Amino acid sequence: MNSRLPIAVIDDDALQPNRPELVCSSNFIGGAWTPARNGATYTIANPASGQAFAEVADSDVLDARAAADSAAAAFASWRKRPARERAQLLKRWHALILANADDLARLISREQGKPLAEARGEVGYGASYVEWFAEEAVRTYGDMIPEGGRGRKLMVVKEPVGVVAAVTPWNFPLAMIARKIAPALAAGCTVLAKPAEDTPLTALALVRLAEEAGIPLGVINIVTASRAQTPVVVGEWLKDARVRKITFTGSTAVGKSLARDSAATLKKLSLELGGNAPFIVFDDADLDAAVKGLMVAKFRNGGQTCVSPNRVYVQSGVYDAFAARLGAQVSALKVGPASDPGSQVGPMINLRALDKIMQHVADALAHGGVLLAGGERLAPDGTYYAPTLIGNAHAGMLLANEETFGPVVALFPFEHEDEVVAQANDTPFGLAAYFYSRDIARVWRVADLLETGIVGINEGALAAESAPFGGVKESGYGREGSRYGLDDYMHTKYLCLGGV
Ligand code: NAD
Repeated sequence: MNSRLPIAVIDDDALQPNRPELVCSSNFIGGAWTPARNGATYTIANPASGQAFAEVADSDVLDARAAADSAAAAFASWRKRPARERAQLLKRWHALILANADDLARLISREQGKPLAEARGEVGYGASYVEWFAEEAVRTYGDMIPEGGRGRKLMVVKEPVGVVAAVTPWNFPLAMIARKIAPALAAGCTVLAKPAEDTPLTALALVRLAEEAGIPLGVINIVTASRAQTPVVVGEWLKDARVRKITFTGSTAVGKSLARDSAATLKKLSLELGGNAPFIVFDDADLDAAVKGLMVAKFRNGGQTCVSPNRVYVQSGVYDAFAARLGAQVSALKVGPASDPGSQVGPMINLRALDKIMQHVADALAHGGVLLAGGERLAPDGTYYAPTLIGNAHAGMLLANEETFGPVVALFPFEHEDEVVAQANDTPFGLAAYFYSRDIARVWRVADLLETGIVGINEGALAAESAPFGGVKESGYGREGSRYGLDDYMHTKYLCLGGV
């Protein structure tokens, strides 16, 4: 019988899972649910109120090492398992995720705060990566190279990199970890996972379902840790030469520290970091489509996404019309608790996030910005913030240079195409960019010039399991989703056969 800490308390009836056994609070190492070796725990808070509602293991170096031992031991047999069998196990996991979608959505809403309908969407989205990589697992083809010289055959095969450590953020507690574990397993790697300290319950439930699916002991290991203990746990994996890859989604500052600290053992790295997405509306755009696209891109997850547009550049000929149509929609958004079916924007993740949003809005207004909607905290002791629209924005404002990561959109007027492309690229980040235009020559021109890993052209919803997601510049490197996402978990090995 697996040992567990006492079940975490969930205090909101509407978000109570039907299957209490999915609410796990200990680590999963080598196929056993075990508390932190030193017995430490930390608390998880309701994002809306800051009140603690659950306790999970606060791991240290011994737990991290035990997890690495387990993943290293499991690698030898997992990589040899026929790809078809790995695929079948992933498909079983996918089916269980969908069968438990309501419970997983409740956990996401509970610990992260997004409205329940949106949380259900995240479950489907995260599950789609598991299904996709189950299908891709059997397609890790190699190559024959025709020109090998006399008496030689040159071949290329793909091999799993080995043990992978996955570190994920709080904004998509299910999707971010699913889109790392699924390709790792499909490639034949074993996994060490460390979910964000604010949102570990969803990740633990996901791993519980992987256990139910029959994924063998040691193939997935998950360890939770508070903010203070996180560098200790991840630091142990960074030092461990058996860990051959780090896959990280989170802030650029932490991503850079992982790149530095993994240099001693030269691990393969995938870094999905912060963004500062430009969204450009040209005079020739379909304005209704542009407003619709922006509402999706900006207000999904309350603006707490890495591809959320911070800077919306609107050409002067359509500026007033666009601002009026957008303002009406921003003002109509309903803010409320995750469990209220009418809510479209939930609470922010914590007070730190709320403070940053308030600072960005105050700075924009102090530097000539015009408030067109919102602009206020909605409850004195909560983390709800009114969807906000600011006009007359310019490059000197904080929100032009840093991710706001909240429901705030700012309009920057512009005159010419050259000028707006230069402004759009004038950032150290390069994750996503969006633009709306009906001029086909301009579409090709601007798509070529934007310095980002992802470009949305007349489209605001970009992520898909079948497409490569990732950035350039200080938004990181590596891709998730698609066949490129599987490649990131594999080495290319060259075999040269002589004497033929
Ligand atoms: P964060 O970098 O603070 O935390 C991300 C993860 O790193 C968490 O698990 C955290 O515990 C861990 N971590 C924190 N300090 C660490 C350390 N010193 N060593 C090792 N691990 C450490 O980021 P966040 O605030 O949780 O997430 C928001 C950021 O993530 C935003 O910048 C956002 O743009 C980015 N993000 C990027 C993508 C993408 O795909 N590019 C997706 C979602 C979020």
